[in-house]
Amino acid sequence: MPGRILVVDDVATNRLILKAKLAAAYYDVLEADCGQAAFDAAKKEQPDVILLDIFMPDMDGYTVCEMLKSCPETSHIPVVMITANSSPRERIRGLSVGADDFLVKPINDMALLARVRNLLRVKMVFDELKLRDTTSRELGLTDFIETIEADDTEISSVMLVPASEAQGREWEEGISKALRVEVCGISSEREALNMARFEQPDAIIVHQRLMEDGDSLRLISALRARSETRQAVMIYVVSDGMIETAATALDLGTSDYVMEPFEPEELIIRLRTQLQRKREFERLRSNVRDGLKMAVIDPLTGLYNRRYATQHMQKIVERSQASQKEFAVMMMDLDRFKRINDTEGHDAGDLVLKEFSHRIQENVRGVDLVARMGGEEFLLVMPDAGNMVAKHVSERLRRAIESQPFITKSGNRLNITVSIGVAIGQPDGQDPNNLIKCADMALYEAKSAGRNLVSFHQAA
Ligand code: GH3
Ligand code: MG
Ligand code: MG
Repeated sequence: MPGRILVVDDVATNRLILKAKLAAAYYDVLEADCGQAAFDAAKKEQPDVILLDIFMPDMDGYTVCEMLKSCPETSHIPVVMITANSSPRERIRGLSVGADDFLVKPINDMALLARVRNLLRVKMVFDELKLRDTTSRELGLTDFIETIEADDTEISSVMLVPASEAQGREWEEGISKALRVEVCGISSEREALNMARFEQPDAIIVHQRLMEDGDSLRLISALRARSETRQAVMIYVVSDGMIETAATALDLGTSDYVMEPFEPEELIIRLRTQLQRKREFERLRSNVRDGLKMAVIDPLTGLYNRRYATQHMQKIVERSQASQKEFAVMMMDLDRFKRINDTEGHDAGDLVLKEFSHRIQENVRGVDLVARMGGEEFLLVMPDAGNMVAKHVSERLRRAIESQPFITKSGNRLNITVSIGVAIGQPDGQDPNNLIKCADMALYEAKSAGRNLVSFHQAA
């Protein structure tokens, strides 16, 4: 995994040592020798991770971290603080200003590289989602999607897999006092795997030593591999000095770890940060999903739009060539629809369009494509359907609209009718747009012959 890492330390030797370790793992290394230089480099160079010394003459690491986190151009870059000795208090202070982790000098290579990998992984996913989100926005696909702000009042479910029942109670007490969470305690590896499947917790806290001879690293990999818990936050609690086990846990996919002894507050801050990040990811993911959906779905009726329909018709043409079967193309247009708007109002008109779409969908097969081509014009494409089927179905659709009045919100009963033009596609790979044109011509005939009719295009 390539990555650019900014090393910040006022002592040249310290920078050199870190640089050597990182370069050996094929990372690109940038350097800064004071707080201000670090901030400038971070803005200009946009590194993927920042390793930040705490004690520096111009300003301390906490201040630099705060600056980085409050600047929109750098706030997304993960920061690891490097310190001579990290007391639980110091760690809380650093985490509170937005640092992702602490590493104590002399730095353990395995811990350093595992943490860098972990942060790069998270950042890559984030950058990718952010990019797609931006693209959708630029394409105007998500303009009308409400941006859901990170919501701290949302209740998260947290599963605890502690080393002892007493410890579980301690964790539960600390966490539920500080965060809006629903906590459930678990006493064994097997139970954890079972529960996770059904409860799908937002976060799982696992102690390195499990009850009943469980294997915590095995548990972490199993949870990461499962679809129900793949996106869950995982925090690993390790005994004092077990830094290499913690590093392994990071590589197995745990989101973060805490080393004993720690203040309850540290676990809470780390958990809160991870939960917020998870929510931000979910928000971006659903924006992207919605954006893609919006590109092909008509928001009023939920039907596919013209863009999708023309694309999809090309596929239907190809398939009909392969299967050597005809397919039917129908253009449907509501009769005298303008009058509905004029006499009943635009909202009633919308309601009719929705109800119309619903009735059409109820009367076709799952493989048939129904799309709103614009205004009150709809397209139906039926694979594997010739003249006979098309006659039967188009007549059924015409009747489905005519037979039952449409009821407006104010209780008015509206008699609506539809005109339908049909063209039969031959399995010879003809141009979809041409077929739509043929169906359109037939539709025009149905309109001029009096409306509420089906008309077939006569192939020359
Ligand atoms: P014809 O029988 O010849 O098709 O007559 P028509 O009135 O249905 O056709 P025309 O194309 O003249 O009018 C279509 C009307 O559909 C005009 C427009 O106000 C209305 N319309 C288009 N899109 C929407 C929509 O999304 N909602 C509502 N309520 N009305 C729409
Ligand atoms: Mg019309
Ligand atoms: Mg029209």
